[in-house]
Amino acid sequence: MTARSVEDHRRHVAALLAALHTRHAEDVSLGDALGRVLASDVHSPVDLPLFRNSQMDGYAVDAASIRVVPAVLPVRGVIAAGPVDPASHVPGTAYRIMTGAPIPDGADAVVPVEDTETTDGQVRITRARHAGEYVRERGSDVLAGTLLLASGEILAARHIAVLAAVGLQHVPVRTRPRVAIITTGAELVDAGSTLKPGEIFDSNGIALASSVRANGAEVVSIARSGDDPAEFQKLLAEATTAADLVLTSGGVSMGDFEVVRDALTSLGAEFGHVAMQPGGPQGTAVVDGVPVLNFPGNPVSVLVSFEVFARPEIRRAAGLPLIEPEELPLATAITSIPGKRQFLRARRTDSGVELVSGPGSHLVAAMAWADVLVDVPPDVTTLDAGQLVKVIPL
Ligand code: AMP
Ligand code: MG
Repeated sequence: MTARSVEDHRRHVAALLAALHTRHAEDVSLGDALGRVLASDVHSPVDLPLFRNSQMDGYAVDAASIRVVPAVLPVRGVIAAGPVDPASHVPGTAYRIMTGAPIPDGADAVVPVEDTETTDGQVRITRARHAGEYVRERGSDVLAGTLLLASGEILAARHIAVLAAVGLQHVPVRTRPRVAIITTGAELVDAGSTLKPGEIFDSNGIALASSVRANGAEVVSIARSGDDPAEFQKLLAEATTAADLVLTSGGVSMGDFEVVRDALTSLGAEFGHVAMQPGGPQGTAVVDGVPVLNFPGNPVSVLVSFEVFARPEIRRAAGLPLIEPEELPLATAITSIPGKRQFLRARRTDSGVELVSGPGSHLVAAMAWADVLVDVPPDVTTLDAGQLVKVIPL
């Protein structure tokens, strides 16, 4: 791979990841459905409310009997919410009824308890009500057979609530792309270890895993290789058995211990430079039929590479909407190097987007403080305060 533009590399990655989009739907229980993407339309199997019921604690009556108030009616019984034998109404009488309890056939209004006085098996009603008042009609929320939720809906608590209310136990959702992650570098150790001189904590593994999950995909494994190509190859072979996509970090630039490059070049991988900063060195491969994206190791480069190349494809495959760029004014003037598309870390403020720290791709704290990337085209070298720029929300 020779030097490429960001757009060319995006297209190349999109073609490699095309197979991710062909995976099927699966049924999950409602308890596992949160955040999943509905794979087909769901029609209601029942009417909601399921039966005519009371909206208030009060008295079920026929409105005709309380047209003149006060009206005194005999109380024939009490209907609580819960399993009951259906009651039938006798005009000129009342049932004491609780919220959610089935209204007797023939009753057409509920008088709230506040408008009543009860003595000796009789209720005195002080305020007239129209037919239909405080009655929740069967099917007034949704009718059986009508569309409840459309394919593509990202299931939130309220969606899961209605699926449960109509009695569904499972729901068809899009399968999540399965992603394996391999970080590389002899210097990397787990948080919690005592650092020897020259060692650092591995942040890319968890960063990529979190990025993957945040975009609707599933992490099947996170592994770490030292700088020995044989070790990396072994981990990669394991990763490809369970994943639809493998992401790697580090070992792709021009140093002496470029483990990913060394291990994959003989397998037909392409390594080269994308005209961007950060994230210039990039590689791609297909190993055992599984696409592999090789991102550089610097913590900002790896996150920016994910956002620019992997995020759109993973979201598409997961059925999630793409994160569209926005246009915002710059809070201060900025400069950018010629010939490279820059993705500058910045955050939104009341006076526009403001750069967070410098362009160094090791500045992982500054990345955390950013909430957008300012996308500066390769041919632009200066931008004035107030000028509109394209930003990519993080
Ligand atoms: P590399 O691309 O392997 O040359 O790595 C570039 C820089 O990123 C080096 O300073 C590495 O120590 C650092 N780096 C590589 N991998 C990780 C990682 N998983 N977590 C944190 N820093 C890393
Ligand atoms: Mg390395």
